[in-house]
Amino acid sequence: MNTAIYPGSFDPITYGHLDVIDRATTIFDKVIVAITQNITKNPLFTVEERLHHIKEMTKDYDKVEVDEFSGLLVDYAIRKNARAIIRGLRAVSDFEYEFQMALMNRRLREEIVTVFLMPNEKYTYLNSSIVQEIAQLGGDVSNFVSPLVAEQLRLKLGKLTAETQKKNNA
Ligand code: ADP
Repeated sequence: MNTAIYPGSFDPITYGHLDVIDRATTIFDKVIVAITQNITKNPLFTVEERLHHIKEMTKDYDKVEVDEFSGLLVDYAIRKNARAIIRGLRAVSDFEYEFQMALMNRRLREEIVTVFLMPNEKYTYLNSSIVQEIAQLGGDVSNFVSPLVAEQLRLKLGKLTAETQKKNNA
């Protein structure tokens, strides 16, 4: 069984991520979408919420599994019997960071291969934080995320705005 791990923050998952997942399923027997518990980022959605979003968005894909992990990605890949790590490349701006990570992971575990996939051009400008920003400013994000995520963004950001207002008024 040819398994690949697609790691990321997915905060939240977008149609750009889904495009990469879709392409990955044409090459691999199993694709594990794995949420990284990134200590340097302050996530908007909890891991449980993100697991739910990803499961809902990938429910029609038999080859896709959804998981979370902490610790080294290459160790996680070995535990899952995966030989490949999938990453999305949108623009040159992604390249330097991705190149460094791929080479470092190879240094740590020679047998794990990083595979880069390019999404449809219409998703090259899309990332999770820009979606958060648009939603925060009351913009329409329905072209970028699933209806479930759009609704949860509205609820969560509405709640955050109310909390900030309460703090400011106190
Ligand atoms: P991370 O915090 O690890 O960068 P992200 O959720 O932002 O996690 O991204 C996970 C992976 O998906 C990365 O390889 C990223 O380049 C890729 N990715 C994110 N958005 C897109 C997109 N719109 N099109 C293609 N790949 C994307």
